[in-house]
Amino acid sequence: MAQVNCPKCAAPMELDAGVKFAKCSYCSSMVFFDRTGAGFYYAIPFTLGQNEAVGTFRRWAGGSTKAKDLDRLANITEIKKKYFPVYLFRREVNGREEVIVEPAGSTILPGLHQLKVPGGDLKVFDDKFDTGGAEMVRPDIEMLHYLDKLPGKGKEQALVYFPIWTIEYTFNGSKYQVVVDASSSEVFASTFPARGSAAYLLVALVGFIIFLVLGFVATVMLVPALVLMALTVVGVFFLSLTVARRM
Ligand SMILES: [Zn+2]
Repeated sequence: MAQVNCPKCAAPMELDAGVKFAKCSYCSSMVFFDRTGAGFYYAIPFTLGQNEAVGTFRRWAGGSTKAKDLDRLANITEIKKKYFPVYLFRREVNGREEVIVEPAGSTILPGLHQLKVPGGDLKVFDDKFDTGGAEMVRPDIEMLHYLDKLPGKGKEQALVYFPIWTIEYTFNGSKYQVVVDASSSEVFASTFPARGSAAYLLVALVGFIIFLVLGFVATVMLVPALVLMALTVVGVFFLSLTVARRM
């Protein structure tokens, strides 16, 4: 048995060897311990509800790099509300404070290595914290795994439950997944249906070749070549418009 003090209310807590996470019996705070000391659990409230998360996803899907009509045609097959655990390290690096966030749960979900913890929005995670029915993803990566590799000197470390929505959808028979950061509205995806560019390239290439040819013609017959060039510009414009509408 080890004796430590609760970092919130300083009440003594007894820990069995090997225990990393415990609840203070006096103030109900969730506390974790490792060789570097005791730390808090924090959680960030959801600012995006399910409807806003879907809206954020649709706006993202309507972006210019996404396949045509992905915003309308993406068929959402599953949406889940989750709290994903990350470690928050405050370090003093060359006299300046640096905040580093690393996943505390193993995951193949995109974006969870680049989460940004919003300042001032951390709530102490204890019995009274309302998780709003979110699935709590278990931390299964040890803090020590990161501590050796971090720069500077440690000032604070905490475990932060980060609010996310995971959305699975299908498009043209393939499955995709995105993560919506429920505090910053950022959308993370490792793959998504992209807009085809082959037709645009073809139009550009044909336009370029016609211009090249007309350039030679212009050295012999200037006026007719200029007229044809003008017609080519109009032609390429309408061809691009057609491609944009169809693709
Ligand atoms: Zn306590």
